Amino acid sequence: MILDKQRAGRTTFAGARAGVAASALLTALFLTGCAQKPTAGASAHPPAAARVPVAATISTIAALVQTVGGDKVDVTSIVPIGASPETYDPAPRDLVALAQAQLIIKNGAGLELWLDKILRNVAKPSATVLVLSDGLPVEGASGPGQPGNPHLWLDVTYAQVYVHKIAAALRDVDPPNADYYSGNERAEIARLQKLDTWIRSRIATIPHARRTMLTFHDAWLYFDKRYGLRDVGAIEPSPGQAPSAAYLAALIDQAKANHVSAVFAEPQFSPKLAQQLASSAGIKTVTDLYDDTLGTTPALQTYEGMMQYDVDTIVKALTS
Ligand SMILES: [Zn+2]
Repeated sequence: MILDKQRAGRTTFAGARAGVAASALLTALFLTGCAQKPTAGASAHPPAAARVPVAATISTIAALVQTVGGDKVDVTSIVPIGASPETYDPAPRDLVALAQAQLIIKNGAGLELWLDKILRNVAKPSATVLVLSDGLPVEGASGPGQPGNPHLWLDVTYAQVYVHKIAAALRDVDPPNADYYSGNERAEIARLQKLDTWIRSRIATIPHARRTMLTFHDAWLYFDKRYGLRDVGAIEPSPGQAPSAAYLAALIDQAKANHVSAVFAEPQFSPKLAQQLASSAGIKTVTDLYDDTLGTTPALQTYEGMMQYDVDTIVKALTS
């Protein structure tokens, strides 16, 4: 319900609203700042006893930060679990979290356009901003740093690059705990290497002819490339943009021609369009893949847990 409201609002004036929200809410933020004296933020290198305040834009990234940062960091996920980052509308609490953060971690590649509008005004000058997709091959981008398909983290080898970057940034902002971060980094990389191998073995159980993904939004491109699935497209041609009847008809033809056996959607989006396409193409709908957001159950609160759940869901849908 809440998500539908967000999506409806965004289609008309999300950009303008973000600007207005930023300026209006900065006043509130300023007042908050006056009322509460900054704690750990006064120095670029907080004392060893203080946790490093970190703001990560999405819960999937926040989970990786938590794994590397452990009990030395205080991680806030800006976009709440269950919301879509591409169309997010920041709330006052988000501006506070961003203003207090010593390290701000975003994915980049066009995922957080709402953040780019407010970050310059909100972040403290000493804060470090880490862009995880920088230097990685972003599909659909016209050049370095340009928007494209942002969902690199769903390829576990890119998630490992994210972990290395997160660890390096934490060592920079909190040198006294550098060894601690390096230890957690090594452990997480080992888990991700195992996860990558496990995913390949699971995908190998799907017959070749059925290794095809048709999704609600274009999140699975890098995953599909890494693990050898065909990607026949997404119902939403770009985030927040409803598909035309002609586009949907072409997608249904594609689905039939490629013998697609399931349409995959996510809990942060209304399943209606996916169900409509699935019934027109005579295939089933899977509505609970997690990609831009973790889930609320304990099994879905880590990156590895989310990926395992998704892979099991994909394998089940494409083999049954
Ligand atoms: Zn997305």
